[in-house]
Amino acid sequence: MSFESEFQSIYTRASTGRASARLVLDDPFLHRMQKRHFILFDVLPAIFTLVAIALLPVVPVGRAELGVFFIMWLLTGLGISSGYHRLFAHKSYVVARPLRAALAIAGAMAGQGGVLSWVAMHRRHHERGDQEGDMHSPNLHGEGWRGKLRGFRHAHLTWMMAHPYPNVVHYAPDLVRDPDMVWIHKHYNKWAVLGFVVPAVVCAAANQSWMGLVSGFLWGGMVRMFVLEQGIWSLNSLCHLVGSRKYATRDKSRNIGLLAPFIFGESWHHNHHAFPGSASFGLAWYRVDPGYWFIKALGVLGLARDIKVPDRAQLRLREAATAAET
Ligand SMILES: [Zn+2]
Ligand SMILES: [Zn+2]
Repeated sequence: MSFESEFQSIYTRASTGRASARLVLDDPFLHRMQKRHFILFDVLPAIFTLVAIALLPVVPVGRAELGVFFIMWLLTGLGISSGYHRLFAHKSYVVARPLRAALAIAGAMAGQGGVLSWVAMHRRHHERGDQEGDMHSPNLHGEGWRGKLRGFRHAHLTWMMAHPYPNVVHYAPDLVRDPDMVWIHKHYNKWAVLGFVVPAVVCAAANQSWMGLVSGFLWGGMVRMFVLEQGIWSLNSLCHLVGSRKYATRDKSRNIGLLAPFIFGESWHHNHHAFPGSASFGLAWYRVDPGYWFIKALGVLGLARDIKVPDRAQLRLREAATAAET
């Protein structure tokens, strides 16, 4: 079955009859799809990263490989952080239709699922936040260090193998009504494949050799995908286990400032849970937050508007509410 007909099948299940009222869909068909996605976009990048390292003596890393690795990491990372997360899941700013589409495509190239699914799962994560129903909480797997270790493994990786699928009709009705987003979502696997083809072709052209196809595919495709994923999965695992907290929130989210430069500022994850509608996760100019800096740059260029960030009074109010609660 092609991905498009799979999408139709999921969509029909989600939108017809009694299923449309269901918050999550959970059946063997969906689990088979999830397992296949996990193998293609999570297991294979890990294996090919090892292959790329083993092949270093024959397929060395030069300027072209470093270039496609960094540019593709930046493009797909901003697609996830500034696009999938801050624009589509939380509507923290507004852009015109072409840029909206470009951000959704850049996010799809990261190989972390189509935009509708990603947004629905993420909104459910905020709704349930470390309670029953949060698909990737590390805090629901028993007490003590063994429980934490089990939770880490689940939140970082194994939950993706098979999990309840949040109903996009319920969790992402705004995107379901947007024909651009539905079209981009339907063609998700093609964008993900494009994320391998582009660096392979660029590297081959830059190196003027067929071997460039292999090195570009490995470093700009597989290794780049693996590296970005480790960062984003750390938000589900590490950023709900270790780090600092400042505000009273229902969930157990944490800030890990040291990770911020490597995951586009996303690791100010506790700040984000406290102010989910804010485009800024750092909440202060001196905190590294490239996902927000990109949005600010779009704003300066006149390409983004209505950029939501809490003002000083709102931050103080929240701090005072936290102090009163503790
Ligand atoms: Zn979280
Ligand atoms: Zn979020």
